[in-house]
Amino acid sequence: MDDESAIPPPVVFQCASCLVIVADSLSWVRATSELRTITLASAPEGTISVSDTLSTSHDGHDLGSTYASFACANCSAVLGKIYRTTPRHLDDLRDYLTFDAAALKNYQVGTEEPARGPLPADADLDILKPEPNALAQRLAIMETVIMAMHDEIESLKSALGSSTDDSSLSENAKAVNAARRRKR
Ligand SMILES: [Zn+2]
Repeated sequence: MDDESAIPPPVVFQCASCLVIVADSLSWVRATSELRTITLASAPEGTISVSDTLSTSHDGHDLGSTYASFACANCSAVLGKIYRTTPRHLDDLRDYLTFDAAALKNYQVGTEEPARGPLPADADLDILKPEPNALAQRLAIMETVIMAMHDEIESLKSALGSSTDDSSLSENAKAVNAARRRKR
């Protein structure tokens, strides 16, 4: 394998609401796990629409920053923020597209090559040693997406917890156990 084939294809990002492709990792800037965001320098023409109004963040990791929200041009789902002023620790997000990881779905496009049979013996080394920056990028994407999913699961769990009466659950469990005993 030559060096070129060892570079993995970019990760493609879709709007989670309508699955239209909105960006890819070729314009990667960084992931910010505290914000659950992935920042890209650009998106293809016409895929997003940027709000005219600036908002200010009053809490959280981006406290004190001002930003314009942007949305999917196809379905108008809000996808993220373009920070215009930032606290120092977020300076490298400024003027870029900072996507909310929970608003995206991502997948990796296939290689240019047609599907092959079993990989040749020397291919394993290439998989284990991908281009370091690309590997770091993928790990950052995965980490941010997993953290965003975790947040979603936690909020679902607390929503379930508040609507579920624990004592009625245990009554049901007792009834089930009593029924089991009668069957024996
Ligand atoms: Zn959309």
